[in-house]
Amino acid sequence: MDRIPLTVETTDTRLAELVDGIEKIASGQLTTRIPVSCAQDQLDTVIAGFNQMAEELMTSQAQLEARVKTRTAMLMDAFRKMELMALTDPLTQLRNRAALETVLESSLAESASNGAPALLLLDLNSFKSINDTLGHSAGDTVLKVVAERLKASVRKEDTVARLGGDEFAIVLQNTPTERARQVATRIVVALAQPVTAEDTELSIEASVGIAVSKPDDSATDLILYADTAMYAAKNKANAKVVVFSPRLLIARQTYSAMAAELQNAIDNNEMVLHYQPIVELATGTLVGVEALIRWQHPRRGLVMPGEFIGLADEIGAMAGLSAWVLQTALAQLRQWQNTLELDPRFTMRVNISATQLQRPELLDDVKRLLMAEKIDPAALVLELTEYSMVTGNEWDLYSFRGLRNLGVGLSIDDFGTGYSSISYLRTLPVDGVKLDKSLIGDPSDSASQRPFIAAILQLVKSCNLATTFEGVETREQAAMLDELGCDTGQGYYLGRPVPATGINAAWLQGFRGSPWRAGQDHAPQELGSLHP
Ligand code: C2E
Ligand code: MG
Ligand code: MG
Repeated sequence: MDRIPLTVETTDTRLAELVDGIEKIASGQLTTRIPVSCAQDQLDTVIAGFNQMAEELMTSQAQLEARVKTRTAMLMDAFRKMELMALTDPLTQLRNRAALETVLESSLAESASNGAPALLLLDLNSFKSINDTLGHSAGDTVLKVVAERLKASVRKEDTVARLGGDEFAIVLQNTPTERARQVATRIVVALAQPVTAEDTELSIEASVGIAVSKPDDSATDLILYADTAMYAAKNKANAKVVVFSPRLLIARQTYSAMAAELQNAIDNNEMVLHYQPIVELATGTLVGVEALIRWQHPRRGLVMPGEFIGLADEIGAMAGLSAWVLQTALAQLRQWQNTLELDPRFTMRVNISATQLQRPELLDDVKRLLMAEKIDPAALVLELTEYSMVTGNEWDLYSFRGLRNLGVGLSIDDFGTGYSSISYLRTLPVDGVKLDKSLIGDPSDSASQRPFIAAILQLVKSCNLATTFEGVETREQAAMLDELGCDTGQGYYLGRPVPATGINAAWLQGFRGSPWRAGQDHAPQELGSLHP
């Protein structure tokens, strides 16, 4: 670059100072200034210009630095927020699964010095039905309340997380088994307090699994153990809190295998219906049959419903299974109506599970199947367990009323098994009550049961409901129930459940007269069946 000609002595020291100053500025020493001489000549003007430029450079440098600082702070802030978001459940503001795993890993790593942590896994029992029946916003309300109650139940150093859906987890630092159990119990009690969602008061039931860490456990081990314990808590009646033990792992593996097998069985038509007679006690007339499902297992033989209905419900197979039962039973009834001489009052009774009752499609399914088979709705009676009605919500009542308006008979099954509420008998839109076999007691002891059974029958009759007694195993029991005015009976003495192939004209011939009535000449029959 060309130098500007200057009329100064080249020996002037200011020139050297200026060159030196420019070098310093160029190397970043922005505070460099050069004194102006008293000469006030052209060189001084250049020096003054230099000084001013240095001043401006310093100011803009300072501004730039301030801006960089603000931007960096903003970036850091955004980063922290993103990090937090990645570790937080947006609905409840609790930690999420990833955060829980990190906390668990570090607690386990420090357990030698800080004490072993315990992991609690928690699952809400009827959350799905709250969501399905009251809607997602009610579900969200419930989850937020649960989150608050969980946080309030533990110490500051403990971590509460939502793993997704209705599953929560808590890491309790330095906590031995018994204390973990106490905390879990406290949580179950806290959650059971009523919650109001969408104007409905709900009570939340939770199942809790506990695993306390051992020295070499990894976070994955501990989660598997707590999950297994929670699973056990869910499947055991009356056990809301279960502590992990190795035998639970084996039980769970068997259970999973069975669930897979059951799904397969449904797909492969291994289910069959057997039909058990319902007999009018005054006359011995066959007034209906109850359809009872069985699993024709390729290796285990006939598996009874008690072994798989609960499982089917849990793996979500119950809806399909129930639809199959309804369809098969109605098709069977149509065939019998075409080929056999049935009593005009003959009804097909089908069991309906609590979950099925909550499906809005139930009503339409029943309507469609009755129409398809051209069956009078009054020839179908649905048996609903007391349990499903007492715990039922508005949906159930809707289904009840819809079915009732359709003309389908409704009966309470297993009445007297512990959930009874007498007031329900008067308010529910049902036609009949089936009294549970446990009420009839030991067959050898029917005489002492008599006043008790008389009172129950009286009670049900006073509500204008038809009475059926289950578990009639002896002639004496049949005679007693008949004398006490019970309308119909079902039980091994009156007839065992039989496959459809066993139901024909000859079999129907067996239901004539009531040999349990005094004066009727019949060989005394104890535990055997009149109609094997
Ligand atoms: P449930 O509806 O109360 O059916 C009566 C049960 O008592 C049947 O058991 C029947 O075989 C048994 N039983 C009949 N007479 C006697 C007797 O004299 N003494 C004794 N001790 N028992 C007698 P099962 O077939 O094992 O069915 C058990 C339960 O499984 C049924 O109880 C019902 O709740 C359920 N279940 C059966 N089939 C279905 C179905 O298709 N759908 C649904 N949701 N549940 C079903
Ligand atoms: Mg039943
Ligand atoms: Mg029953």
